[in-house]
Order: sequence, then C-alpha cells, then structure tokens
Amino acid sequence: MSEILQHFINGKLVESRSDRLADVFNPATGVVKAKVPLGPKSEVEQAIAAAKAAFPAWAAVTPLRRSRIMYKFKSLLEANADRLAEIITSEHGKVHGDALGEVTRGLEVVEFACGGPHLLKGEVAENVGRNIDSHSLRQPLGVVAGVTPFNFPVMVPMWMFPVALACGNTFVLKPSERDPSASLVVAELLKEAGLPDGVFNVVHGDKEAVDALLTHSDVKAVSFVGSTPIAKYIYATGAAHGKRVQALGGAKNHMVIMPDADIDKAADALMGAAYGSAGERCMAISVAVPVTDAVADSLLEKLIPRVKSLKIGPGSDPAMEMGPLVTKPHLERVRGYIDIGVDEGAKLLVDGRDFQMDQPDYAKGYFLGGSLFDHVTTAMRIYKEEIFGPVLSVVRSPDYETAVQMVNEHEFGNGVAIFTRDGDSARAFAADIEVGMVGVNVPIPVPMAFHSFGGWKNSLFGDHHMHGPEGVRFYTKLKTITTRWPTGIRSGADFVMPTMK
Ligand code: NAD
Repeated sequence: MSEILQHFINGKLVESRSDRLADVFNPATGVVKAKVPLGPKSEVEQAIAAAKAAFPAWAAVTPLRRSRIMYKFKSLLEANADRLAEIITSEHGKVHGDALGEVTRGLEVVEFACGGPHLLKGEVAENVGRNIDSHSLRQPLGVVAGVTPFNFPVMVPMWMFPVALACGNTFVLKPSERDPSASLVVAELLKEAGLPDGVFNVVHGDKEAVDALLTHSDVKAVSFVGSTPIAKYIYATGAAHGKRVQALGGAKNHMVIMPDADIDKAADALMGAAYGSAGERCMAISVAVPVTDAVADSLLEKLIPRVKSLKIGPGSDPAMEMGPLVTKPHLERVRGYIDIGVDEGAKLLVDGRDFQMDQPDYAKGYFLGGSLFDHVTTAMRIYKEEIFGPVLSVVRSPDYETAVQMVNEHEFGNGVAIFTRDGDSARAFAADIEVGMVGVNVPIPVPMAFHSFGGWKNSLFGDHHMHGPEGVRFYTKLKTITTRWPTGIRSGADFVMPTMK
C-alpha cells in the first residue's frame, strides 16, 4: 500500500478526507510511489482561512525579522539540497545533478528575498509643494496563492513564495499533483526556520482546488506557471474575480546559429539545452535555426552522433545525461509528436521512439531516446506546438532576417538565443527579437534571482514577471502619502484641483 500524502495547513500535516486520489509514479520504474489526495474546495478553504488568520501578525513582523527567517531557511535548504534533489528525481525523473541545480536556482530567490528590508524601502520627495512632503510605501496584499507545474517542483514554487513572504504576505501553494512530495519538505523546512504557523500552506489537488483558489474572495493574488491553455484560463478567471494574476505559459524556444558562430560550442550548447531534463524545461531549446545550409550541415554532423549516444537511464545514476519523461501519457504524447513530424514530411535523422532500457527494473520506466528532425518548416505542427520532450527540430534559414522573422511570428516568446561572434548581429538581435528572455551565446538565458523571469506573447499573461524587482511589485500594493504640517496649512477651502502654480 503506497503512502497517501497529506496537506500542510496551519503549520502541520493534515489528512485529506477526499475520496479522489491520484497516483504519483516513479518515472524511472513506472511504479506507484505515493498517492496524492485531490483536495476538495472545503480543504482549500481551510488553507485559505489559516493563511488569512496568520496574515495580520506576519505583516506586522518587521521586514528585518522576516528576512532573518529567510536566512535560516536558506541554510536549511543548503543542508537538505541532496534530500530534495532525490525526491525530485524520484517523482520527476530528471538526473540528480540537474535536480540539485534546480534547488540551487530556487535557493537564489531565497537569497534575493533575504534582502526584504532593502527591497521594501519606498521613495521620499521633500517639498512637493510648499511645506509638503511625499513618501511611498509598498504594503503586502494578504493571502496569495501559487499554482505550479511538474517540471520544476522545487524551483518554480521558490520563484514565488520567498518574495511573497518577505513582502509580508501569507501563501497557499497548490503544487503539481504529478510530483507533489518536495513541497511538503519545503513546508517543514520553513517551519523549522521559524516561520509562524499558517504563513505557508500546501494543498494538493487538481482543477477543483485551483478553482477554489481562483474564486475565493480572500485570495488577493495568484501566481501560476504551467501550460498556455491553463495559463489563459487562470488569468481570465482570476482577473474576473478581482485578483492580481501573473500566469506564465508554454514555450517554443529557438536558437539561431550564425555563420560566424563557433559550431562546436553551439553543438555543445544545443545538446544540453535540447536534451537536458529530457526537454521538459520551459527554457529548453526545441528549435535550432542554422543560418545557411552550410551551417546546418556542419552542425548536424556534430549533433547526430551525440544525440545517438546520449546516456539515458534512471536519474539516480550519476553517469546518466537524461532521465525518463514524467508520466506514461506524456511519453505517449511526445512519441505521438515524432509520428506527426514524420507524417508531415520532416526528416527524422535520429529516432528515439524505440529506445528500451535493458535492466528489468527500468523496463517499465517512461524512457524515450533523443530525437532530431531536419528540414522542419514553420507550417508543421512539430514547429508550432510545444512538445516538451527530447525532440529537437532544425529549421534552416537562408539569412539572419528570415530567422528573426520566424522567431517573432511564433505564438510563444519565452526564451531565445543567438550564437555568433559578431557584436553587431548580437546587438541587433537583442533589440529586435520579440521574446522576453534573450541569450547571446547563452543557450538557456534564465535570469538570475535579482532580475525577473518571464516571457512575452502566449508565454505570459499578466503585467509582472516573476521574482526580482517585478516580484516585489507583484506582491505589494503601492501607497503614496502626502504630508503637510500645521505651519504649512493655509486658511480657507480650496475647490480646485491642487497644482503647483
Ligand atoms: P499544466 O498546465 O498541466 O499544470 C500546471 C498546474 O495547473 C498544475 O498545478 C495543475 O494541477 C494545474 N491545472 C491543470 N489543469 C488545470 C485546469 N484545467 N484548471 C486549473 N488548474 C489546472 O502544466 P504542466 O504539464 O504541469 O507543466 C508543463 C507546462 O508548464 C509546459 O507547458 C511548460 O512550458 C510550462 N512551464 C512554463 C514555464 C514558464 O516559465 N513560462 C516554466 C515551467 C513550465
């Protein structure tokens, strides 16, 4: 009998009464590892009520004291990084080193949030009128919620809650039901760091739980990361219920390789960016755009043997470069896209569909080999749609202008990269490209925690990117105070708009 996971509400684990349970698989073995309750509305309401009750006291804690808890949490995360990475690998499938990298990128947002007192400083202007001063404050919103995807079960929640908590909000997290265990360890570490009960809560669930968060009047803001159709739904529903919403969606990230690029380095970069984490990264490169046929041919010559010899196996084996996909349905979906690409007439240079693990323990795991398509066109579904697997499409471009136009016309605009040695092309690319995060000779340009993360077009709905300065703006309300002391008060009423004459 596999373990049934619990919610974390008001500082303790709480058993769910839901009769709806989902299986959590170990993707390397295909064995059910745990069961996760799909929380009903009433259990979500319990978490919201705990967060609401905890809010006034937490908002009143000085920013410096809140930041000290974040420091403690950061140390605990460091001490527990391996444990968290093991849990990630056992439910997501990614290799251990990659899982550790995820924990580190999340931890960096905690480091940023440790600077809460500085981040919350407002602005002051003296003598905005005679004897009148103005200053601004940023105040917390109240209860805020996070709804997160399967592909970064530790990092993506940490794009959200460290900043939200440092700003004085209380938080309800609804993690992905496919790999929900790590969020319970995070909750336990926050408690150990000294976070008061009710400030951080975890409720498990699916659409029913998410809808309860989106429609509840006590939830003031919702941060979401996931696929585009759901991101659109979250944005529309949350906004219709008066909430602030940031909803990050899907992606199709291109890498443009210019004729002057170092092709060996570009090939290295593509291997990691396309096949790392089995392509299940929102910043994975899924389209390579070599400029000219000559570049395409020399790039493919380097890529083909490397894709064929990818070391694929359980993420717990340190020798592996790529683990399994997250679930069987996802494996079938990605395999289906390879079939579609073949039917559409793209040239399948490396076919990962028949990959099989030899060891009996892993024979039922959700493994797929790396796949590589050449002569993909912009009309094909494998180009237009997000596959989210270890499948790289090569779309040949005759020149720089065509490459830029292709990227700009794509519905997604999360990340993009250009590989070149030419400063002029790089500068023009950064200026002209319609994408939120741009890499110049950097394949996965994920901004550091003190910058903000977010795409454009159908990769983000809402006005604010995540973490960094944008995160602080998202999780706070701006208040501006204008002050006049008695010596400056004139007699008599004024009925016209005050202006400086
Ligand atoms: P998903 O959209 O299926 O699920 C995300 C979250 O939404 C989960 O918590 C899930 O329980 C919930 N959800 C699912 N269906 C719902 C519904 N009908 N109503 C309300 N809530 C619902 O995404 P996923 O498969 O877990 O994650 C992969 C996707 O996330 C990819 O599209 C990837 O590009 C995207 N992603 C984007 C970014 C980014 O920064 N833009 C980062 C990571 C992942």
